[in-house]
Amino acid sequence: MDTDPVINVARWLPRSSVNGPGERFVLWVQGCPLHCPGCWNPETWSFAANRLMAVSEVFNLIGESGPIDGVTFSGGEPFAQAQSLAVLAKRLKRDNVSLMAFTGFELDELMDTERRQLLDMLDIVVTGRFKRAARVEGLTWRGSSNQVVHLLTSRHRGIQFQDAQEKRAEVVISESGSTILTGFPCPDLRRKLQTLNGE
Ligand code: SF4
Repeated sequence: MDTDPVINVARWLPRSSVNGPGERFVLWVQGCPLHCPGCWNPETWSFAANRLMAVSEVFNLIGESGPIDGVTFSGGEPFAQAQSLAVLAKRLKRDNVSLMAFTGFELDELMDTERRQLLDMLDIVVTGRFKRAARVEGLTWRGSSNQVVHLLTSRHRGIQFQDAQEKRAEVVISESGSTILTGFPCPDLRRKLQTLNGE
């Protein structure tokens, strides 16, 4: 029988088309040890409990989000919670869901037993710290040019990367009127939305 470990969740979006191929559920986890200067999500660095959710709860949430092409783990740092996410990934894999993760670690930093548990479940992983000096706008699923998209299975091998032409960012307006910006927006759009949100 599967265990039901807890994931420290930052937030989620039931549907996004800028965080991997197709329409995907995106789970941002809470906590990142890497602290890249210029990170867009510094509020996800703290490992203090934010929203502690059992794997089964997140799994059900994903199931309720309607038809999707896949699930993306982002952060924060997904591999800082590799064991719990691997349990979730294993359950999703049984339903043949495409799985992807963004990580600040390099591929060779993911080879220990714990991180491998998650890595081995993924179809795509995007690796590498965000480097402000290497920032390039318009890269597919990457904020800086040092980051690398690894296709780990044959599932998405036919993908054509058209960096400058990809949809890069989404703005989601919640029922309360607040906005969530996701993807790889230009800094100007980010600043304008922060102003609108009173941040
Ligand atoms: S790895 Fe990602 S979440 Fe962590 S500091 Fe770097 S850019 Fe931010």
